Amino acid sequence: MQTIFNMECQECKRRNYTSTKNKSKHSERVELAKYCKHCRRHTKHKEVKA
Ligand SMILES: [Zn+2]
Repeated sequence: MQTIFNMECQECKRRNYTSTKNKSKHSERVELAKYCKHCRRHTKHKEVKA
């Protein structure tokens, strides 16, 4: 069971990435430092519903 979600930049609130995960293995919300092309640097990205 794979669920699709977006990764949202916590600074500009733009959704820069789409990802999938196995919900039974990873039930908690994903938070990652990813490159945001709008902020033009690495920012914190949070999982939001697709
Ligand atoms: Zn950003």
